[in-house]
Amino acid sequence: MKGKTIAIIGGGPAGLMAAEVLSASGCDVTVFEAMPTFGRKFLLAGKSGLNITHSEEFDTFRTRFGRANARLRPALDEFTPQDIRDWALGLGTETFVGSSGRVFPKVMKASPLLRSWLRRLERQGVRLMPRHRWIGFEKDGYAFDTPSGPLLVHADACLLALGGASWPRLGSDAAWVAWLEACDIRTNPFRPANCGFDVAWSDAFRERLAGAPVKSVTATSEAGTIQGEFVISRHGIEGSLIYAHAAALRDRLEQAGGAALVVDLAPGRTEVRLARDLARQDRKASFANRLRKATGLEGVKAALLRECVPDASLLDAETIASRVKALPIPLLRPRPIEEAISSAGGIAWAAIDETFMLKQLPGVFAAGEMIDWEAPTGGYLLTACLATGRAAARGIEEWLAGR
Ligand SMILES: Cc1cc2nc3c(=O)[nH]c(=O)nc-3n(C[C@H](O)[C@H](O)[C@H](O)COP(=O)(O)OP(=O)(O)OC[C@H]3O[C@@H](n4cnc5c(N)ncnc54)[C@H](O)[C@@H]3O)c2cc1C
Repeated sequence: MKGKTIAIIGGGPAGLMAAEVLSASGCDVTVFEAMPTFGRKFLLAGKSGLNITHSEEFDTFRTRFGRANARLRPALDEFTPQDIRDWALGLGTETFVGSSGRVFPKVMKASPLLRSWLRRLERQGVRLMPRHRWIGFEKDGYAFDTPSGPLLVHADACLLALGGASWPRLGSDAAWVAWLEACDIRTNPFRPANCGFDVAWSDAFRERLAGAPVKSVTATSEAGTIQGEFVISRHGIEGSLIYAHAAALRDRLEQAGGAALVVDLAPGRTEVRLARDLARQDRKASFANRLRKATGLEGVKAALLRECVPDASLLDAETIASRVKALPIPLLRPRPIEEAISSAGGIAWAAIDETFMLKQLPGVFAAGEMIDWEAPTGGYLLTACLATGRAAARGIEEWLAGR
């Protein structure tokens, strides 16, 4: 690969991983990044500890990507969760498995890993060009806006690793969609993934409970029944349990025009027992007292029941028990993509071959979140970005070798 010039556009985890592989093979690699610094979303992920991968059985891990499972499988097989842990260790970052099976750096942040990664890339000869914003294809090159004016770059091969459409202020603004579509490359509309939802809370509920965590519940949607916790926000509901249901709820809202998350507020008790204990309460006591004594519900859980079932105090014991066990929270819409942890949508798989090359643009490859796949939180997102960055780099090598 000596002397082959590679332009990598986008300096997030997918682009940097491709730069690592290609520079190790002797290519002359330049990474162009629109922002003043590299890996901004990676650093933000570090604020919540940097859940870099997951320790569950690899056979299960490989099924977390929904419709994209089959297309991602070869890339994941070549760069497994264990490979990611070894790779991080090679950069001086030890990882550990948290109680949920999620894998984090021991330091619970991304900056030391990113710093030593960028240093190693520079030692390997990678040129890092911040403040270089790609603005589209021009003649047979790639046009950039740079601090010193326009720049036209030519390269033997190019990797686009421009990210998805969430948190655009960190750099991934999906401006590239129009440029690829102009080349007949199909993209699917971006939609929020791993996001919160709007709920029509009453003013009183919002003022009193925004920010309150709802702990030790289970929630059910077409994604299944999952245990965890979530947070009441000013707009609706947020948090890890909501993100686990987000794709299913978003799809249902789109298809049916309405959706509800069904919450079990007392997962440790049966409906029969709750009904019996509620029926035993003194009717003269306040509803709040009867509910607390019979079901253990108080605070935010009791308020949530009353918010979603305003006439709860008038209902019979069986009906109250059934609402406690299966409380539907009606959802209005997902929160905007600008707030979502990740996005669904992007370059359609049909537009990409097995080596991650764009079928309409030989020599131009794509990797990371700009391709149409989604996964829950749990380290799956970063794992697939790193793995596809690697796979696209191998695709580039193959393509250059075959020319
Ligand atoms: C709050 C938050 C927390 C997260 N936590 C986790 C987590 O714990 N675990 C996990 O697995 N995932 C997490 N993620 C998701 C993860 O960070 C992303 O999936 C991942 O960063 C995507 O990598 P990427 O390389 O595809 O794209 P990005 O990281 O988005 O990088 C793309 C780069 O391309 C640059 N770019 C875009 N357009 C241009 C252009 N025209 N010219 C030049 N450069 C351009 C952007 O500036 C950006 O730097 C989190 C995301 C968020 C927002």
